[in-house]
Amino acid sequence: MTDDAECVFCRIAAGKIPCTAVLETPDCLAFMDIGPLAEGHVLLIPKAHVVTLDEMSPEQSAALFRHLPSLVSAVQAATGCEGVNVLQNNGRAAHQEVMHVHVHVIPRNPGDTFHFNWPAGRYPPGRVEELVGKIRDHLAGGS
Ligand code: AMP
Repeated sequence: MTDDAECVFCRIAAGKIPCTAVLETPDCLAFMDIGPLAEGHVLLIPKAHVVTLDEMSPEQSAALFRHLPSLVSAVQAATGCEGVNVLQNNGRAAHQEVMHVHVHVIPRNPGDTFHFNWPAGRYPPGRVEELVGKIRDHLAGGS
């Protein structure tokens, strides 16, 4: 979990690439997204290089996510948006393009241009119980 010289968000955290910061602590940085999905789109990152959320310790994730309530509140107040999507793309299959953990705070308004495809499905008989068992086992094993 060392800083990665090739990582754009490590470079931003180190002050080697400029950003428009809105919040900085010893562990975290929040700054304006360079390609906003809406005006006021903010990114929150840990300064340490971690690729995906599942690689973070509970302490690291707590230090990051503790800023979300005030960040969401500030973005809502500043933009006057009616809602906010808090989005964390985790892994390339989930549309993560910058491989350093980050959380998007995206202002939303009725009729805006950001859309989800949300193809809600149904489980075949027995499948949800099978998955619940596996997830519980992994949680109990701490992995
Ligand atoms: P993701 O698809 O979740 O990996 O999103 C990466 C986000 O990082 C995108 O919304 C980009 O616009 C944003 N981004 C990439 N480079 C920069 C940068 N130098 N400054 C601010 N935002 C950036």
